[in-house]
Amino acid sequence: MPRITKKLFTDLAIWMIGFGLLNGAMFPFFAYQLGMEFEQVFTITFWAATITAGLLAGIVNYTLAMLVVRPRLKILAKHMHIVKNTISDANFTGDWSSCSQDICRLEADSDDEIGESARAFNNLVEALFQAHKIETAVNDFSKTLSSQLELDILSRQALDLFLQYTDAIAGAILIESSGELTVLTHHGISDPKLLANSDHIRKALRTLKCQRVEFPENIKIEAVLANFNPREVIIIPLEFKNVPLGVIILAANKIFDKDVTRLLQLFRHSFGLALNNALAHSNLQRIAALDVLTGAYNRRFGLTRLKEEFNRAIRSDTALGIIMMDIDHFKSINDTYGHLVGDRVLSRIAESTYRALREGDLMVRYGGEEFLIILPGASSTNSIQLGERIRRLIAETTVKDGEQYINFTASLGITSFPEDDVEGELELVKHADDALYTAKNKGRNQVVSVQK
Ligand code: GH3
Ligand code: MG
Ligand code: MG
Repeated sequence: MPRITKKLFTDLAIWMIGFGLLNGAMFPFFAYQLGMEFEQVFTITFWAATITAGLLAGIVNYTLAMLVVRPRLKILAKHMHIVKNTISDANFTGDWSSCSQDICRLEADSDDEIGESARAFNNLVEALFQAHKIETAVNDFSKTLSSQLELDILSRQALDLFLQYTDAIAGAILIESSGELTVLTHHGISDPKLLANSDHIRKALRTLKCQRVEFPENIKIEAVLANFNPREVIIIPLEFKNVPLGVIILAANKIFDKDVTRLLQLFRHSFGLALNNALAHSNLQRIAALDVLTGAYNRRFGLTRLKEEFNRAIRSDTALGIIMMDIDHFKSINDTYGHLVGDRVLSRIAESTYRALREGDLMVRYGGEEFLIILPGASSTNSIQLGERIRRLIAETTVKDGEQYINFTASLGITSFPEDDVEGELELVKHADDALYTAKNKGRNQVVSVQK
């Protein structure tokens, strides 16, 4: 139909009323054709009556059309306004509450173009909500993680968020360093160490592509996953500037849906950046805490760790062994062979000492050629045994300088809390140092424990 005005409903009124008038005006001719008398139909009164009837039919038709169609269109327009206003406000406030899905959804109860418009509108609102949900999730994820530099906390928070935003029930985060995979954190996995052997993980790291493994419904992988049968495991490689950093593994008891996998791709990038920052931070911290020559903790960091271990020993009512070790006649090694050889000797002594230590024991370079060894959980007897082993290992170590084989020894002073009932950790160090002094006086190359 050709457009008459700029308003569709005015056009509709003109067409309907005009057609009604035309109908009324033409009616006498039809009536005459159908056999009515000429004098009856071609009178002013009859014509006026048919034109009025045509006009009324046009007006009624138009009114009915308005009543049936217009309210629906008005609702559609109103909802579109709400959505538009909400989006422009939410851009600044972040508040989407004025357009919940209930408020913005339209009732689509007719099987025609108007119903179709309502359904299309509802789909549009749903897509907007989904986009908003993803944007919130990504912002939330980046905000939480970007400021976190502590590797442990970062990985725990990240895994919590991964589990929260996906359908995963179990998961783990592993980092790779010199080809070795280390589990940083895990949830719902009974034996996370087994993960490091997975070919899928190696492949994800090599190709930097997500690996998805689907399982038949009745399979059970008890060894790795606790308490449920996974339907799908997804392995997401983490990288920064194409350098693999590690992987996130997520397992669900159903197939991950498409939105979740898209969301994971977004998370993956911000987590890669956060992980890279945290790894750089932890490397710097490690470098700042370590003595370059011996790989032992430096004195500043070592004393902090000693304080922590002492407080832990009090809290958990466990022993804490302390060894103070000093190389015998080290000055004469320097004097005879030179400082560089002296350095090599120090480094070899540290290596030999490490061989005797257990996981959790700490070695601190306390002074030039003095080492403080912290032994959490070691009683006096344990500490003496360990001290003796260290003394023997050092005495058996040789350093070659040209044709010369250099031998050296060390003296060790030992004490252990709470057998040595001290008030503070520095007192413990002092007692071990006194015992070391006694060892030196007694002829060196020996272990002396604090006399109680
Ligand atoms: P004692 O048996 O009584 O301990 O004799 P000592 O010669 O070991 O004792 P002293 O404390 O007098 O000498 C320690 C020497 O260790 C002096 C210093 O030059 C040397 N030294 C300290 N730090 C280093 C180092 O990093 N490298 C080298 N090569 N020598 C060091
Ligand atoms: Mg010495
Ligand atoms: Mg000394």
